[in-house]
Amino acid sequence: MRKYTYDYLIVGSGLFGSTFAQIMNGNGKKCLVIDKRGHTGGNIYTKEENDIKIHWYGAHIFHTDNEEVWHYINKFTKFNNYINSPLAYSEGKLYNLPFNMNTFNKLWNVNTPEEAKHKIQEQCSKYKDISQPANLEEQALKLCGDDIYYTFIKEYTEKQWGRDCKDLPSFIIKRLPVRFTYDNNYFNALYQGVPIGGYTEMVNKMLDGIEVNLNVDYLEDRDLWNNIAQTVVYTGPIDAFYKYCFGALQYRSVRFETELLDIPNYQGNAAVNYTDSETPWTRIIEHKWFEFGKNEKGEDIPRTVISRELSSEWKLGDEPYYPVNDDFNNSLYFKYKELSDKERNIIFGGRLAEYKYYDMDAVIAAALDMCEKEL
Ligand code: FAD
Repeated sequence: MRKYTYDYLIVGSGLFGSTFAQIMNGNGKKCLVIDKRGHTGGNIYTKEENDIKIHWYGAHIFHTDNEEVWHYINKFTKFNNYINSPLAYSEGKLYNLPFNMNTFNKLWNVNTPEEAKHKIQEQCSKYKDISQPANLEEQALKLCGDDIYYTFIKEYTEKQWGRDCKDLPSFIIKRLPVRFTYDNNYFNALYQGVPIGGYTEMVNKMLDGIEVNLNVDYLEDRDLWNNIAQTVVYTGPIDAFYKYCFGALQYRSVRFETELLDIPNYQGNAAVNYTDSETPWTRIIEHKWFEFGKNEKGEDIPRTVISRELSSEWKLGDEPYYPVNDDFNNSLYFKYKELSDKERNIIFGGRLAEYKYYDMDAVIAAALDMCEKEL
């Protein structure tokens, strides 16, 4: 039998690749991780500047109900119990998210759940004749009525998707996440937080003792890489793997405008969503608040870094962020998947290879499952 240098070549040091490599290495398998970027961690990479850990590819808050995943990831970091409670800015006013009694109190001056429910029912009743919503607008109006839709959903969603809500499919909003309590905790998860020391440190601990080569693109020399390992775990884009033979899968992209400000506090919260159309960005992230404004010595950080997030149409070569899982793209993906199912000694996993939005806990769970199958 042919002797390979490595049992596994793992293409991509994101959470899928790092989890897979960590488990396999722990089970005595020889692994090599490569990444085309100059850093590990994939999209959860945090870059430290001026004592502030910047979430380089967008804000990441870990949250899970999965005991196995929580137990696993806590071997590599402690979490700081940061609770995601974003705000929404609309026409000069700030509201709490997710939609809850604080939001309704500010919007309608109602105090009790009964009053808030009544208000929503009253507004929805206008749309009760819509039995099959034809688009996102009809769906949202049917679920929440005029005020919530026009203040928080319409313009924000149009900025995010670059399309009119009337031209977006209704399935994007399946249900309306409303709460009739004064609770601003966005994720209703058992466990939540941001790694103390940052995501990059966490991933590097996962990769401890494993060979990692950065700035290497697997697709540029795949014969070489395929010949050194018995199995390849590919976490890059599936369409790129097949040289876009059926066409490129579509994504939404995000552009970040990041700025260091010589003030200690810009917006008093890590995340503010801009739900009006006058503001071009969808969100502003103030990174220091993920660590409660403190550096690693526990001191207050005198300056601050903010990132404005501008949603943009994706074209080949741009960073792919959100898959557009509409019928067109899903059926395109299945064509690629059919090809990938026939591969021997190549495993496809993670958000890009599966063309799927994965939360961090879900991608870890998927990698753990994959390891179990392999072992
Ligand atoms: P990635 O992190 O993308 O890793 C893939 C790696 O493969 C990359 O490092 C890439 O450089 C490398 N690669 C690709 N092609 C090649 C190649 N040809 N050769 C070599 N290397 C290659 N989840 C949460 O749970 N909470 C959040 O708050 C949250 N916020 C998010 C915000 C944004 C804006 C986005 C887009 C996602 C968010 N997520 C969040 C999801 C989270 O980012 C993903 O779950 C996670 O990054 C997926 O990991 P992955 O390993 O599948 O992919």
